[in-house]
Amino acid sequence: MSSKAIAVLTSGGDAPGMNAAVRAVVRTGLSHGVRVMGIQRGFNGLLSGEVVEMNLRSVSDIIHRGGTILYTARSPEFNTPAGVQQAASTCRSLGIDGVVVIGGDGSFRGARDLTESGIRCIGIPGTIDNDIASSEYTIGFDTAMNTAVQMVDRLRDTMESHDRCSVVQVMGRRCGDIALQTGIAVGATSILVPEVPYDFQKDIIERMRFTQKTGKKHFIIIVAEGVGGVEKLAQDIQEATGIESRATILGHVQRGGSPTLRDRVVGSEMGSVAATLLYKGKGNRVIVMQGGKIVDLDISEALNMKRVFDKNLYEIAHRISI
Ligand code: ATP
Repeated sequence: MSSKAIAVLTSGGDAPGMNAAVRAVVRTGLSHGVRVMGIQRGFNGLLSGEVVEMNLRSVSDIIHRGGTILYTARSPEFNTPAGVQQAASTCRSLGIDGVVVIGGDGSFRGARDLTESGIRCIGIPGTIDNDIASSEYTIGFDTAMNTAVQMVDRLRDTMESHDRCSVVQVMGRRCGDIALQTGIAVGATSILVPEVPYDFQKDIIERMRFTQKTGKKHFIIIVAEGVGGVEKLAQDIQEATGIESRATILGHVQRGGSPTLRDRVVGSEMGSVAATLLYKGKGNRVIVMQGGKIVDLDISEALNMKRVFDKNLYEIAHRISI
């Protein structure tokens, strides 16, 4: 194939809203008159040749679907100099001169390496954890939190009926954003995040005792995955307070489901901006949200940024969830 084309792939963990971004890349690319290819299973697809030509109808009926129609993968084979070279040569043989990479920081490193090998890449933050330093928002975060809130609301019904304490683990290995915002939304007595060390007596037991004295009979403790240990925590709380306590790990249920309006809109905007940048000959950029606006940054600059945890919101949660 000789004509120039752009391509899109999803990489790392899947996130609701990735489909909206894929759809926007495809339709924006086509609107500029370039061919658009879909690479399947992340960077793996560039090693195995799983690349399909996309048309307007290839992305019909997907905006409301969770997961990713392109499938996703982690590809240790790509993450070697030989793997990157092979991926670049697959692109050249298919006439692909630019790739939109939707994923997390790891995927952005892959995008940077592929750009260095001559194939221009643009990254889009797609991960439920909201753990990308350069962007205030990552596609999938809103849907994951809304799912977590729905699940905790259900637990709350049964906890209330039995005067129990519910210790709920939500996703977020290095980032407490899901825990923080979910915790506020469900009125958690304590929120434990990897960014802030906690004291079992002061931050959990004393808060429970205080609220108990003011008439509260059931309790929700939200714990980020990166803090973990919810089974032991529930046991310790029960021993310290005498209140029956149960641990629940929400797990991958938070990754699925129909994307919220926000994830569909942000995914669409980021996808469209990325495709237009590629069309204009730009590469080595990531599309991010800063100050509520969608902008693009140099990939290496973006990868060097340090995440800042929202301490103010954390303080507010502490003050009002009592
Ligand atoms: P999530 O946050 O959802 O886990 P992620 O994009 O950070 O998403 P990773 O597993 O870290 O997920 O990375 C996805 C893929 O990106 C890897 O399997 C690998 O193919 C590629 N990748 C990761 N790090 C690098 C790197 N340093 N150089 C080249 N490619 C990389």
